[in-house]
Amino acid sequence: MDIEKTVDIKYEDANLDERIIRAVSELGYEVMTPIQKEAVPVMLNGSDLIGQAQTGTGKTAAFGIPIVQKTDPSSEKTQALILCPTRELAIQGAEEIRKYARYYSGIRVLPIYGGQDINKQIRSLRGNAQIVVGTPGRVMDHLRRHTIKLDALKVMVLDEADEMLDMGFRDDIVSILSDIPGEHQTALFSATMPKPILQITKDFLKEDAVFVKIPSKELTIPLVRQYYYEIPKGMKTDAVSRLLDYYNPARTLIFTNTKRMADELTEELTGRGYFADTLHGDLTQQQRDHVMLGFRSGGTEILIATDVAARGIDVDDVEAVINYDIPEDIEYYVHRIGRTGRAGKKGRAHTLVVGREIYKIRDIEKYCHTRIELRRIPAYEDVKASKADSILDQVIGIASGEDLSDMIPIIENRMYDCEITSLDLAAAFLKKAMGNTGSGAADEDFITYGSVDRKTRKKAYSEKHKKDAHAFSGFNKKKIRSRDLNLDGSVKTGKKKDKNKNRSRYKKGK
Ligand code: ADP
Ligand code: MG
Repeated sequence: MDIEKTVDIKYEDANLDERIIRAVSELGYEVMTPIQKEAVPVMLNGSDLIGQAQTGTGKTAAFGIPIVQKTDPSSEKTQALILCPTRELAIQGAEEIRKYARYYSGIRVLPIYGGQDINKQIRSLRGNAQIVVGTPGRVMDHLRRHTIKLDALKVMVLDEADEMLDMGFRDDIVSILSDIPGEHQTALFSATMPKPILQITKDFLKEDAVFVKIPSKELTIPLVRQYYYEIPKGMKTDAVSRLLDYYNPARTLIFTNTKRMADELTEELTGRGYFADTLHGDLTQQQRDHVMLGFRSGGTEILIATDVAARGIDVDDVEAVINYDIPEDIEYYVHRIGRTGRAGKKGRAHTLVVGREIYKIRDIEKYCHTRIELRRIPAYEDVKASKADSILDQVIGIASGEDLSDMIPIIENRMYDCEITSLDLAAAFLKKAMGNTGSGAADEDFITYGSVDRKTRKKAYSEKHKKDAHAFSGFNKKKIRSRDLNLDGSVKTGKKKDKNKNRSRYKKGK
C-alpha cells in the first residue's frame, strides 16, 4: 500500500492564536484537513505557496486562518486580498473568514463583487476592511477608483485560480498582481495546474514558493452512489426524463459541457413539464440570483449548469447529480458529484455514456479510485410504479393526517350520481396525478447496439448477474447481443412479439 499513515494535527497544537482556536472549535473543526496541515505553517511563516487541491478540501481555512492571525486590527488598511471566481464564493469566503475572526475586535472582512451597487461598496470600504474577498473584475474597478489601496497589503490569495482563468479574468488578475507596490506574500490555489496558471506562478510568485499537492484520492465522496448508463446517441434527454421520473429527486443538478446544450436541455425539459432552469456564465448577476433563489426555495427542481457556472453553488441538499455530458476534464467529475451527498446526506450521481465515452468512465474510476456501477435506464413499467408509489404515499399521508370531512360529501354525491365505485374513482385520480409518465421513448430504444467495448459490457454483465447463472450462460454461449436483452438484463424470449407488446402497452398508457 502506498498510503502513508500521516499524523493528524489538531488545531490546538498548530501554533495558532487562542482566539482562533476557540472560534474554529466552535465550528466543529478539530483536526486539520490535508491542505490545511500543509498550507497553514507555510502561510504563517510567510513563504509564497502554490496549493493544488479540489473543492471541499477546506481551502478557505487553509489561507483564511493564517490571514486572520497576521492581520493587525489596529491598522485600518487593507492587509489581505483574496480573489475568487464568483460572487457566491466571495460572499461565502468572507463569511467563513469572519467566523475565524469573531473573537478579535476590530478585524473587518468585506466581500466585493459585481452586481452590487458599487457606491454602497465604496461606503463600506471607507469603513476600512483589512481583509477583502472579491471577484477580479470588481476589485479592478475599485483599484481604478482608488477605493481599494494595496500599499499596505501583506497577503494576496488567488482562490480557484483555474476557474478564474476559465472565466476570462486573466488580464484583471495580472493587472492586480502587478499593481501591488510593496513586499507581500502570495498564495495560489487551484484544482488543476494548466500552463497559464504555472505562468502566473512564475511571473508573480517568489522562486522559493512552496508547492503543495493534495492527491485526489483523498477526495472521492463515499456517500455518493455513482452509476453510469450506456445509451444510444440521441436518447440522452429521454434517459434523463426516465431517471427524473423514477428517482423523483427533490433537487437535481444536471451538468452539460456547453452553454448551448444547457439552454436546449432546459427548453426540452420544461416543455415536458419539469420545473427546470439554467445557470450559465452569460447570465447577469441579477438573473443568477433569481435562478439560485428558485433552486434553493424548491420552486425550481432541476438546475442545469455548465461546470464554470456551477462553481459558486452552495446548496446542501442536492439529491441527484446527472452528467448529461460526460465531463471533458476528469477533475470536473469530482467537482460535479461533490455537489451531492453533502452534509452527511446520501446522494446519487448518474452519468450518461454514449459509445466510446465508456473509456472515460474507466479513466475516472482509475483516477479517482472509485467504482461507477453500470445500470440500465429504468424500464417504463418501473417508472410508472415508482411514480404511483410516491403519489400514493403522499395521498395516504393526507388521508391519515388531515381533516377530510368537507371532501367526503363531495365524493359521496358524485359516486351516487355517476354510479362509480370508490376504487375506480381513486384509480382515475391516480391516473390524473401521474400525468404524462414516460418520455416518449420505448424501453428498447435505450439499448445500445454498441460495437464498442463488448468485453467491458460482458464483464459488467457477468458481475451484475453472477447469481443469475442462466442469463449469464445464455449471454456467453449463444452469443446473444445486447438488443436481445431486456432492460433488466434477462434474455428476451420470442423477440418480436415481446417488442410489439411493450410498444402497444406504452402507447395505451399515454
Ligand atoms: P474548499 O474551498 O476547498 O472547496 P471549504 O473551505 O469551502 O473548501 O470547506 C469545505 C467545508 O469543510 C466547509 O463546510 C468547511 O466549514 C468544512 N471544513 C473545513 N475545514 C474543516 C476542518 N478542519 N474540520 C471540519 N470541517 C472543515
Ligand atoms: Mg473554496
